[in-house]
Amino acid sequence: MVSLGLEDKVIFVTGGGRGIGATIVSLLTELGAKVAFVDINIPDDHPAAFATKADVTNLEEMEAVGKKIAKKLGPVYGVVANAGITRDNFFGKLSPADWDAVINVNLKGVVNTIKPFVAGMYEQKSGSIVAISSISGDRGNAGQTNYAATKAAVIGLVKSLAREAARYNVRANAIAPGFINTEMTKVIADNIKEKIIAEIPFRRFGEPEDIAWACAFLLSPVASSYVTGEVLRVNGAHHT
Ligand code: NAP
Repeated sequence: MVSLGLEDKVIFVTGGGRGIGATIVSLLTELGAKVAFVDINIPDDHPAAFATKADVTNLEEMEAVGKKIAKKLGPVYGVVANAGITRDNFFGKLSPADWDAVINVNLKGVVNTIKPFVAGMYEQKSGSIVAISSISGDRGNAGQTNYAATKAAVIGLVKSLAREAARYNVRANAIAPGFINTEMTKVIADNIKEKIIAEIPFRRFGEPEDIAWACAFLLSPVASSYVTGEVLRVNGAHHT
């Protein structure tokens, strides 16, 4: 019997309360990991070993969460920076508040998520960091200049971090999902959705499980031990 080697590994996920994050939490738990997650709202029933409310835009809160996880579950092996938001509009119509909100969660939030754990990972000489980027950061998307800018920035962040962290046997990768069926994409108007689906060779949106399995692969010290600084596109061939 082969395994992904995630049994008893402590893995921290942000935005684990619903959508892609919740599916990542469930899958990693099924694979035997000890999973901790934060979200703005924590659902009543979840499979994680530890869950608490925290806002990824607040570094102090994230550092406090990091300490709690280490105390409750032990040294953290994996970090999944998943929490993200959209504030879509055409460039000329985006307000400074729309820019700030998206930059704060999608870029600074990713920094605040990874920062509390890096020193520990370097010390233990093992770790895997996964940031959830987006097809929008890869190929751009009309109406998402703010979102796409942060998702492209995250790709630059993990590629650079991968180069710094390799000497400590710590890996950093990004996943760029295409359009996935979650609350985030429920708001897309039906006529727009039809146009997007017509561009996707698979002729459908993906499911959160598609991203969760990609995440499990990138976290796995068995399956992806030589994969770092990479962007794994999971998009039904919806490329540029
Ligand atoms: P989602 O259903 O909206 O879930 C996002 C979760 O993150 C929510 O539970 C949300 O909490 C939480 N969150 C938002 N801001 C937070 C903050 N400041 N601190 C802590 N948690 C926060 O979105 P999703 O579709 O699962 O997306 C997950 C990730 O995949 C995001 O980074 C997104 O950009 C990326 N992505 C999604 C798609 C897609 O098509 N769905 C495509 C490409 C990339 P509340 O809702 O309770 O505020």
